[in-house]
This record gives sequence, structure tokens and C-alpha cells, in this order.
Amino acid sequence: MIEKALLEVNRLKKYFYLGRGETLKAVDDVSFQIYKGETFGIVGESGCGKSTAGRTIIGLYDVSGGEVKYDGKNVHTLNEKEKFAFHRKMQMIFQDPYASLNPRSTVREIISEPMEVHGLHRNKQEKLMKVYQLLEDVGLNRDHANRYPHEFSGGQRQRIGIARALALDPEFIIADEPISALDVSVQAQVVNLLKRLQKEKGLTFLFIAHDLSMVKQISDRIAVMYLGNLVELTASSQLYEKPLHPYTQALLSAIPIPDPNIEDQRERIILQGELPSPINPPSGCVFRTRCAYAMQVCAELKPEWQEIEANHFVACHLYNKQITGKPAPRQVAASR
Ligand code: SF4
Repeated sequence: MIEKALLEVNRLKKYFYLGRGETLKAVDDVSFQIYKGETFGIVGESGCGKSTAGRTIIGLYDVSGGEVKYDGKNVHTLNEKEKFAFHRKMQMIFQDPYASLNPRSTVREIISEPMEVHGLHRNKQEKLMKVYQLLEDVGLNRDHANRYPHEFSGGQRQRIGIARALALDPEFIIADEPISALDVSVQAQVVNLLKRLQKEKGLTFLFIAHDLSMVKQISDRIAVMYLGNLVELTASSQLYEKPLHPYTQALLSAIPIPDPNIEDQRERIILQGELPSPINPPSGCVFRTRCAYAMQVCAELKPEWQEIEANHFVACHLYNKQITGKPAPRQVAASR
């Protein structure tokens, strides 16, 4: 049940200064809120800045501008004691379940490590019981506790990563491409596991992915990111039924439809060209070099972030009446 904004991201910027006067603008002026108990998806092509946004939110990177507030407190100005408490509340699940697990540690050691760092369950037996319970929570069993990561499949390793993220009983989980490295057949299982855990434990999720079809399965709301900028944000169902931004429409049109009759007839929107470099992004609208609707103004002015309908935000001049001189179209094209 959605209650209140647990996370507030206000005009967040994360730049990397590369020397020789070059700056990589990985996240450039991004704002959104995540409410307690919801799953918020961020979707976009690889290199769009979504993982950098996640890592900045959890404090792995400093901000270059703007702020991130968790439960009303600025994450990047916490003192050491507050930071320690914050890291109990917010945990991360990583993309590559193999690289994120120490190959020389047993599953028991991997899952109990965060508890040791945070001084929880000092009693050895109590700690072991917690490890067993976490393994069962993620669909593994007690016998797995004394094995090593290489003895597991990719899907099982991701389950171990999830168990480790849950070891401190967090409130908020950032799942950074948690299923991208897994076989398609296993992806749905991990998504279902995350959904079940969210319900059972009342978790709030930031789910980062490049695959819109999977994000839809799990997210209440979805933000679409392109070259460090948010281009659209709305409820998951609304985004699929009525995508407004030309980039969102292109992403959606790339998802195959299981019905062969519809699939054969529908028109695909093929994005032209490559994702431009975030070191030298296009002027005005960052999507203009690949947009079929680009106008002169798109090269000159950055589109404003506007609420076109209730809780449906988009950054595109096509929906700005002052620029087009016409009422906002409900959609610029039928993408599906
Ligand atoms: Fe396309 Fe212009 Fe809209 Fe950008 S602002 S998405 S270039 S129409």
C-alpha cells in the first residue's frame, strides 16, 4: 500500500570529470519520488545513466548537484553514525550474481557478513538460524549454506545475492539489473521471488533494467531515462497503454507481441543511429538526433518536464502548447 514518499530525488546530477576539460554527465538534473511500499522502475538503454543514478542514491557516489533524501534526511550529508543506520535500511542487489559473491566464501559466510559488520545476532546459533531462514525465504534450503558460489546456477546465485541483501532486514532495495545476466526462463522466477518478498516484508523497490517487458511485470510506476535525463514517468499501465515520448514508443515497439497475427502486422519504430556520447550530448533535447519528430526548436531548447495528465510526466516539445501552438496530442503515433 502506497503511503508516503520514502525517497526524494531532487534535481540530481552526477558528473564524472575526465580531465582535458571533458565531463561525462551520467545523470543530469533528474527528479522523482518513491513511495513506501511501491516498486519504481527506471528503464533505458545501457549507458543512459540509470545504474549511476542507483549508485548515487545509495551513496556509493557523491552528488555533483541536487540532493537525495531518504525519510526526510539528505543521504549525502549524514554523519558516520547516521550513515551506518542508513545502510541497514537501504540495500542493493547487483546485476552479476557471480561477480558480487566472494568465490572463496561459503554461502553461510556471504549471507552472515552484513550481520557481522552491523553487529547483529552475535550468538553463532542465532546467526546460523537467520541464514537458514533467509535461504528458505529466497527458495533455497539449509543444505546450501556450506557450499560455494561456483556450485550454483546463475538463478540460484542471484537468490543468494537477494538473501544477502535481506540479511539486515532493509526497508528499501535497489535492484540494479538483477535479471539481465540470467536465462530468460529464470528471469520470471527471480521477478516473482522479488514480488513475493516485497509483499511479505513490506519492501520498497527501485528496480533498474533495460528490458521494459520485465520492468512492467514488477513496477507500479516507471521512469524512462535517456542520456542522463528522465523523458517520461507515469504508472506502469499508463506507460504501456499510452506512451507519450517518442523514445518510450520506440522502446515499447521493440517488445515482441506473443500473438503472431498482431506481431506480423504492427509497425516497429526503429531508432536511427547510436546513443550519443554523454560527454558531448546533443544541444536542446538529448533525444533529437534519433527522433523522427525533431523540430528546429528541439536543437535550441531543452524540453521542460511537464505533467501532461495526472501523474503522467513527459519532457518533449510536442506536448508544449506554447511551442507547437496546438493542444497537446494524446499520442504522437500509434506505437503498438
Ligand atoms: Fe523529439 Fe523534439 Fe520531443 Fe525531443 S523534444 S523527443 S526531439 S519532438
